[in-house]
Amino acid sequence: MGVTVQKQEYLNLIKGKWMPAASGDQRSSINPAAPEEVVGYYQYSTEEDLNKAVEAAQEASTEWRKKAAPERGSYLYKAANILESNVEEIAETMTREMGKTFPEAKGETMRGAAILKYYAGEGMRKTGDVIPSTDQEALMFTKRDPLGVVGVITPWNFPVAIPVWKMAPALVYGNTVVFKPAQEAAVTAAKIVECLAQAGLPEGVINFVTGSGSTIGQGLVDHSKVNGITFTGSEQVGRDIGQRALARGAKYQLEMGGKNPVIVADDADIDLAVDAVISGGLKSTGQKCTATSRVIVQRGVYEEFSQKLLQKVKGIKVGDGQHENSWMGPCASENQFHSVSGYIEKGKEEGATLLTGGETFPEKKGYYITPAVFDDVTRDMTIAREEIFGPVLALMKVDTLEEAFETANDVEYGLSASLFTTNIQKSLAFIDEIEAGLVRVNAESAGVELQAPFGGMKRSSSHSREQGEAAIEFFTSIKTVLVK
Ligand code: NAP
Ligand code: MG
Repeated sequence: MGVTVQKQEYLNLIKGKWMPAASGDQRSSINPAAPEEVVGYYQYSTEEDLNKAVEAAQEASTEWRKKAAPERGSYLYKAANILESNVEEIAETMTREMGKTFPEAKGETMRGAAILKYYAGEGMRKTGDVIPSTDQEALMFTKRDPLGVVGVITPWNFPVAIPVWKMAPALVYGNTVVFKPAQEAAVTAAKIVECLAQAGLPEGVINFVTGSGSTIGQGLVDHSKVNGITFTGSEQVGRDIGQRALARGAKYQLEMGGKNPVIVADDADIDLAVDAVISGGLKSTGQKCTATSRVIVQRGVYEEFSQKLLQKVKGIKVGDGQHENSWMGPCASENQFHSVSGYIEKGKEEGATLLTGGETFPEKKGYYITPAVFDDVTRDMTIAREEIFGPVLALMKVDTLEEAFETANDVEYGLSASLFTTNIQKSLAFIDEIEAGLVRVNAESAGVELQAPFGGMKRSSSHSREQGEAAIEFFTSIKTVLVK
């Protein structure tokens, strides 16, 4: 690799101009593998900056929504090419800023480019239907209008893919955007915005404001000129956003936490299941909303499964994510580190057995925690109920598949769920009974495809879907037109 990211100031983008926060205040974004290392400085903006950004987006909206959709799409193609040509640098920044390993960061950045191309193509596809009217002299059809100004609020765990899968459809369907990324990944986010800006989007079509969630995030949600809010992040923040948006009649979309189960049936291919649990549970240091958190195993294969899992987990190399000998990076921030450590302590206190991991490296300074596997986890324990968002697997033993389904569904979340079995009836029963928006058979709980709908059930979501063709539902409103 060898590319050194320079310490740099990253500015807001408002009305086509890169500018500092009005207050002149900025904050540093650090490397969780080496917290003394600053990756870059981002603007700590105020309401004044936000207001300018929303005004710019509103002004730009009039022209942008009138442009032909294929032309809007052409900007996204350009942005995809620019993103691709900067993939190494962006991926390296991501690794240094939030600790995801370099190969994963590169994969995510390439995914960002693919999402841009997908939505560029959407600019050429149909967006309405002709519906027969009972009046023979009338033509009835639907058309879709953009919402206007859309506020995009994102978490730090997929700092490229999530902003892109919100902004690309927002733009192609004719909305203008004010984007507020998570502070922990604000530098990576700025680099994505640079790619979009370089693609030549007209000024004000995309605006970028960094700063705290309680000021810039909440300010966006409450702003009377922001017509839609698309949010991915924690459940607690999401609920509050939903209530505020509802109170002022704005459209909103929330994608939140998960407590994703993998069920291993007694006829499963055990090696396949072990690899999927490791990949789905521990890649990105377990900080995916779709990460495997509970592993529900039938008694008949419990011993074999847990032995094989343990052996492999013990072999995982933890490091800074930049070097080949680190399969897993640190937790993304000090907060995450303390939160995950707290859950590990809670697991022990409540009587689960820690089979391996959960160690920290005090001598290394970085926010490292080795992958942890708990045994004897029961449904009532905190580690079986709350989202941990870290490298922690909870093994739960069940007798029957019915008990496995019941256990899997016995949480408030419903994002992703997997079953490992070689039996088609069991697969079909699982597909019917599981309460999850993403249902996987013989595949890991994480790892979704950009052309398919994405989202959760229960408390994981506001029940709309993102990505693929589903994105149009949030980013547009249908007009039913009758012409006589
Ligand atoms: P978070 O703390 O909820 O923050 C998400 C975003 O909201 C950040 O940009 C944050 O800003 C902002 N924010 C904070 N308070 C706000 C407020 N009062 N009003 C408006 N915006 C506010 O989540 P996170 O810690 O970044 O991310 C981890 C969470 O995201 C996990 O729970 C995970 O499950 C979830 N997630 C879900 C999905 C999914 O698709 N279902 C995907 C990925 C992650 P600052 O943090 O910069 O202050
Ligand atoms: Mg946060």
